Amino acid sequence: MAEFLWIRGGRIIDPSRGADETADLVIRDGRLTAEAPPTGCPVLDARGLWVLPGLIDLHCHLRDPGQEWKEDIASGTRAAARGGYTAVATMPNTEPAVDTPALVEYQLARAAAVGGSRVLSVGAITVGRQGRELAPMGQLRAAGAVAVSDDGAGVEQAVVMWRALRYAASFGLPVLEHCEDRSLSRGGAMHRGAVSTRLGLPGIPAEAEEVAVARDLVLAEATGAHLHVAHVSTARAVELIRRAKARGVRVTCEVTPHHLTLTDEAVARSRYDPDTKVNPPLRTEEDVAALRAALADGTIDAVATDHAPHGPEEKRCEYEAAAFGISGLETALGVLLTTLVQPGLLAPAALVERLTCGPARVLGHPGGTLAAGAAADVVLVDPRASWRVEPEAFASRGRNTPFKGWNLTGRVVATLVAGKAVWQLG
Ligand SMILES: [Zn+2]
Ligand SMILES: [Zn+2]
Repeated sequence: MAEFLWIRGGRIIDPSRGADETADLVIRDGRLTAEAPPTGCPVLDARGLWVLPGLIDLHCHLRDPGQEWKEDIASGTRAAARGGYTAVATMPNTEPAVDTPALVEYQLARAAAVGGSRVLSVGAITVGRQGRELAPMGQLRAAGAVAVSDDGAGVEQAVVMWRALRYAASFGLPVLEHCEDRSLSRGGAMHRGAVSTRLGLPGIPAEAEEVAVARDLVLAEATGAHLHVAHVSTARAVELIRRAKARGVRVTCEVTPHHLTLTDEAVARSRYDPDTKVNPPLRTEEDVAALRAALADGTIDAVATDHAPHGPEEKRCEYEAAAFGISGLETALGVLLTTLVQPGLLAPAALVERLTCGPARVLGHPGGTLAAGAAADVVLVDPRASWRVEPEAFASRGRNTPFKGWNLTGRVVATLVAGKAVWQLG
């Protein structure tokens, strides 16, 4: 007997098909179907709700293997499901780094065993993320890796990046690059500018990112490889990418919710709260405005959380000693709806695009759509529900968020992976 589910009367926003309409969605055996639901079919009443393709996060840190006290694949995929994510790409800066096919296989098998949101594995660019010898990208790809990255750090030497782009391109893998020139950023704790001077904290200049973006754009143009710039955070970096795209360079990029909503003033306002410490750092008002414009005009392809859970020992300390990172899977959608969509700064369909088919396109992933025949990865959102960010209630082990105590409007009500609920509110 076929298993059906009938999601009735919701507002379906599916940018992959240009759809924004009140309609029904029918699921048969884990896939979306154009068939009519049979009599007696179970019904999910979606009146007043948004029905979206499951969100895809192309950049998060599940810390597994090796740092399970911060997060593991079980807690991380539970956090993802609560946040409306049906697929998350986990970065390889684990211990050990994901630089062998066995480690990719471990992550995928573990994800299948815990049965939450889907996990996509990102392999390392270089062996041990050491920036020297290239990782066996063909084997990583064969084991299921969807991209390569040395995230946590940039690839320091231009010659290694040049080889990596050519090698990755031969396997059709995008290179997700953390653009940071350490010779400019080393020792910094926050964005370098008027606020860091006032607070007496060592700064990370915007140029540390921009120099790396410029170099990698040159190399992407020369090799024809697919460069994806992770967590773009400055006005000039985004302008470099915009111009490169106009020239036809194969480049895509992502931005995080925190870089779209907070500035370096958050460090001062919070009185040096280490939960505002993130890499790249929170920038300036002008940068935030440029990122928002680039998100709206499509220069930025995707919003990614860069979910980086840490334990209290890494965060409950003085600012300079604290680890970089924000636990973001459970707040991303609420923060974006509250700060960008509710005030009318970004159309709902544009936001949904950057959270679904945008990241799917970057990774060459088949998800991010509600087209008939696709896997029934679906998220139901109540756009009017208000809630308060309480990190102690997170499914993630990382409670490090600068959004704690924020009141958000827009909440995930249910998350379905292959037609099965992996999260349901209440
Ligand atoms: Zn990074
Ligand atoms: Zn990261």
